Amino acid sequence: MNIQINKVAQSRVSQVDFDKLVFGKYFSDHMYIVDFVDGVWQQPQIMPYGDMLIKPSLSALHHAQSIFEGMKVFKNKEGDVMFFRLYDNFNRMNRSAERMCMPPIPENIFIEGLKKLIEIDKDWIPTQDGKALYVRPVYFSIDEVIGVKPAENYRLVIITTPTGAYYPEPLKVLVEKTYSRSSEGGTGYAKAAGNYGGAMYPTKLAMEKGYHQLIWTDAIENKYIEESGSMNVMFVINGVLVTPSLSNSKLAGITRDSILKLAIDMGIKVEERNVTVDEVIEAHEKGQLQEAFGVGTAANVAPIALIGANGKDYVLPNPANFAVANKIGKALTEIKMGKAEDKFGWVIKL
Ligand SMILES: *Cc1c(COP(=O)(O)O)cnc(C)c1O
Repeated sequence: MNIQINKVAQSRVSQVDFDKLVFGKYFSDHMYIVDFVDGVWQQPQIMPYGDMLIKPSLSALHHAQSIFEGMKVFKNKEGDVMFFRLYDNFNRMNRSAERMCMPPIPENIFIEGLKKLIEIDKDWIPTQDGKALYVRPVYFSIDEVIGVKPAENYRLVIITTPTGAYYPEPLKVLVEKTYSRSSEGGTGYAKAAGNYGGAMYPTKLAMEKGYHQLIWTDAIENKYIEESGSMNVMFVINGVLVTPSLSNSKLAGITRDSILKLAIDMGIKVEERNVTVDEVIEAHEKGQLQEAFGVGTAANVAPIALIGANGKDYVLPNPANFAVANKIGKALTEIKMGKAEDKFGWVIKL
């Protein structure tokens, strides 16, 4: 594939303090852009990160035919650049595209463009433990038409941002029973832009009460646990790793899948099933709720220190002692960083 490349005259990488990274704030030198116009993928380009001209009629702004992905790139001690389960992100992007009535992205347009972009900006990949280069592909309609119908023309852009820990401390989460992020038959399984805009108001209300994040419940009975913010959620009850089974209202996290596979491999008992709010509280009251944590690319494993539900706060055991979360979180990080054997074949070297 031929990519037109226009590099910056001077890299900005030395201006970024890699010890003080803020999630999603500093963008690397280049971006990858390719448009889909009149049914044809146009010339892929890598150019300096910068402005894009848009008209107020840009269809994505009005009706949110817009999806994204999130993945991380690591560098090992030898300086090899490593992607984690890259094709899973690519395939999920196309599942989101299908749900939002957008044309599928061809594999070479996505994978080869991304690889070239990372190769050019590899100096932006942090090497300290727990840090990585976060990759954000975004794909959206670019018709200048405000009719409510699928657009004809689209743009894929990939930008990258060096990142450290997403949550600096164990989380306080609130079980949400009034608002929903998605429902059966909706778009919850897609990384569709509108899902996240719609989640902000209820999340803000929870933050005003001192919580960091929500735990969403099902939209019909508000009885079953769905997931958290931009993470799937897991519990350890009586030594069993319990997580809500997937459905079309939940995002199928790649971290979730990796952790379940690692847990099974370590001999930890795993249950994917419906999980009610009541059973989690009951387990807590009986002293059987040993751990709760969120799992996702941005946060990796984010321990939960406190769960608010039904007007009460339930304090978990000290997250520093979460045996399962800490063990699997560490194992996962070591595989991603090339420090442990990758027996599942998840890591792809550039
Ligand atoms: C991205 C995301 C996740 C986590 O998915 P990963 O592939 O593990 O990063 C979970 N829930 C939601 C709503 C998400 O957007």
